[in-house]
Amino acid sequence: KNIVVAIDGYSSCGKSTLAKALAKKLHFIYVDSGAMYRAVALYFLRNNISSTDLEQIEYALKNIHLNFHSRDYETHITLNDEEVSDEIRLMPVSEKVSEVSAIKAVRREMVKQQQRMGKLKNIVMDGRDIGTAVFPDAPVKLFMTADPKVRAERRFKEIHLKNPDITLEDIFENIAHRDYQDTTRTESPLVRASDAIILDNTNLTPEQQLQFALDKVEP
Ligand code: C5P
Repeated sequence: KNIVVAIDGYSSCGKSTLAKALAKKLHFIYVDSGAMYRAVALYFLRNNISSTDLEQIEYALKNIHLNFHSRDYETHITLNDEEVSDEIRLMPVSEKVSEVSAIKAVRREMVKQQQRMGKLKNIVMDGRDIGTAVFPDAPVKLFMTADPKVRAERRFKEIHLKNPDITLEDIFENIAHRDYQDTTRTESPLVRASDAIILDNTNLTPEQQLQFALDKVEP
């Protein structure tokens, strides 16, 4: 049976940094579930799909084909064969994604695809509902959190060079907004699975976080 390590938590908590490092160390596949919701949100934006018109949503979902390319441990995702890995990180998508990911039909489809991936390989998957809805039986679950100001500063440093117009305040607001939407939606809201181990990384280096996670995987 394949092993799944589930990493959930708030926005910009360093989930993907830890998940990547862990996958590398364990020789597992890293799956960024957020990239899938982002790619769907991009499709909705480009094609003006309404978030309330169920028929339109179902039709859109039939026309969305996502694929991961794990050349390295970075996220490479295609939307209908177009590489969208950079575009899904931009502000328009970040502002739209939580609305789109709250749609029941969207979640149903993404969860189905994610569960299929877990059947094929040993994976580390990060997201919001991996330990609760996607893989409730995952043997290792982490729930990450950090001070929101620290999170915004980290993300700002990461994207500032590429996106000099985005301010620290923009990022802080986007993080707060997504956390609010993700924790209050009806469909699989962001919540700690009762058996998930909390990892508050406000004052931890990436190396310390990796060690913490490895200790849980291989006690
Ligand atoms: O992980 P990332 O911040 O890229 O995710 C973007 C958004 O996708 C989240 O704010 C959330 O709305 C949604 N998401 C989700 N469930 C997941 C992963 C992401 O609802 N498993």
